Amino acid sequence: MIYPIVKYGNPVLEHPAETVTEFDTPELNKLVDDMFESMYAARGVGLAAPQIGIGRRIAVIDTSAGEDPAQKLVLINPEVLHKEGTQTIEEGCLSIPGFREDVRRSKKVTIRAQNAKGEFYEKTGEDLLARAFLHETDHLNGRLYITHVSPLKRDLIRRKIRKLQKAGEWA
Ligand SMILES: [Zn+2]
Repeated sequence: MIYPIVKYGNPVLEHPAETVTEFDTPELNKLVDDMFESMYAARGVGLAAPQIGIGRRIAVIDTSAGEDPAQKLVLINPEVLHKEGTQTIEEGCLSIPGFREDVRRSKKVTIRAQNAKGEFYEKTGEDLLARAFLHETDHLNGRLYITHVSPLKRDLIRRKIRKLQKAGEWA
């Protein structure tokens, strides 16, 4: 099932999501499958559950955008263990369509998370994967990438979105 993507302005995106405590249930496995399907349909490389209106600490990432099944990652209750270096790259978000801004993030990031069976694992990513780890973990903490850009740029984006909302073009 493909879920519609929740857009900026919906409070679910700015609240910390709840820890997952039950694993390997048909419901959780189905949700994870649906999240991958929804992410591919939206042409994203990462998707957090709040982006489909579900406030639980679950994210999926595939930096190959569906080309390589080995790149599929399920992050449940993820935590950032280690960060190093910096990279500044233009970043976007499926929940803030039509906007992109340069965001400075760490270049190499190690996370600890659980898979859908509840097994803990650690993984280190560089460049795009490091960025996805931080972007998606931020989502689960109720934080959007625009909180990492300058207040001036952030206000400009907010003003443009407010205009789109008034025009009925942002739902
Ligand atoms: Zn996002």
